Amino acid sequence: MLNLVNVGHKSLADYATITARGLMQEIERLAEPLRGRKVVHLSATAFGGGVAEINYTLVPLMRDVGLEVEWRIIHGQEEFFSATKTIHNALQGNPQGLTAGQREIFHRYNVDNARSFEDEHDFVIVHDPQPAAMIERFPDSSARWIWRCHIDLSTPNEDVLDFLLPSLRRYHATVFHRHEYVPRTTGMPPAYIWPPAIDPLTPKNMALSPEDAAYIVDQFGIDVERPLLTQVSRFDPWKDPLGVIDAYRQVSEHHSGVQLALVGSMAHDDPEGWDFYNQTVAHAAGDPDIFILSNLNNVGAVEVNAFQVHSAVSLQKSIREGFGLTVTEALWKTRPTVAGRVGGIVAQIQDGETGWLVDSAGECAEACVEILGDPAAARARALRGKEFVRKHFLMPRLLRDWLVLFNRLLDQDTAGADVAVVAAA
Ligand code: UDP
Repeated sequence: MLNLVNVGHKSLADYATITARGLMQEIERLAEPLRGRKVVHLSATAFGGGVAEINYTLVPLMRDVGLEVEWRIIHGQEEFFSATKTIHNALQGNPQGLTAGQREIFHRYNVDNARSFEDEHDFVIVHDPQPAAMIERFPDSSARWIWRCHIDLSTPNEDVLDFLLPSLRRYHATVFHRHEYVPRTTGMPPAYIWPPAIDPLTPKNMALSPEDAAYIVDQFGIDVERPLLTQVSRFDPWKDPLGVIDAYRQVSEHHSGVQLALVGSMAHDDPEGWDFYNQTVAHAAGDPDIFILSNLNNVGAVEVNAFQVHSAVSLQKSIREGFGLTVTEALWKTRPTVAGRVGGIVAQIQDGETGWLVDSAGECAEACVEILGDPAAARARALRGKEFVRKHFLMPRLLRDWLVLFNRLLDQDTAGADVAVVAAA
């Protein structure tokens, strides 16, 4: 049997007054005809990354509304994860393809995992490419199989996509974050479109008072009397921490007291990440007002929360971005948010309305100067950003979308509730 993840208990009622009005009733209505249905989530890991972050809340909430839900982890050795990392990068456009050996490894592990899987569910939700080929071993399955893709397949390495297509075409439905991420290829099942969501009640997103936030960031050396700009993200070229430092330098010409925090988690086994971390440190050139922090400095969920809450400006100057949960998190905390005009970020920020979208370090600096110069106007914008998150990007909405899809796949009435769908090509 594949390993079960223990997610604990959560109650949807706890979210009732914090989410968009009317959503709870809609969820109850949609859940009613699904009571007792069996759902399994399959994914490659229970730790780190977006899938895990979401499932620890989504799975218990699905249970709370009456579904029988489990989350199982496929097993794999390094050779498998090395092949699936190549697949992941290639599907997002990396030219490097799969060797014959990697193809064989990918299929062998999928077959092995399928042997350890009992096909006794109404819905099988397969997350990302790693377990995507398990479906091939269940040609007579009575379950509805759904492939939940968390990455951007708009410009894939065609060879690698072709390698996966025979499996993907067997699914009853796929789910993507954005329309643009659906591969333009024939024979695919309908693609449902909905963005991910954050849990407002977890340590990373729960309400933290300004006093507690200041108390926490003070321990990392931040002068809490002077303004702070913060970017929370992995040390990765696409997150552009070097551009953030350039922007900060331009801002400090106008506001001499400004400080910058770059908060990013580092995997111990990621040499590329360390190289880029070192480049970022070098670019900061010993400036005592630039704070480069990572999990090695004990920056966990509560500390990320505190940095976001305490910042005068929250930055996410990405050059490329799948969705950008850090933007959602910052907006939720009513932070004036300045972010790159790319990927999922443009679905979250309406430039000039709820935040600032920028295309360069210069524009990023200008936005920061504007925010620091007129905090009241910036707050008005941030308040609208928070309400946008409340309406669109909190976890109960994600639960609702799944319930709509389950009902549709069983040809059950959804009483007018709908989600966007791209018809099969
Ligand atoms: N994150 C964190 N600590 C860090 C850096 C990032 O907890 O030091 C979290 C961040 O709060 C967010 C997630 O990692 O929840 C990153 O998601 P996002 O979609 O912004 O970017 P990704 O890393 O998936 O490209």
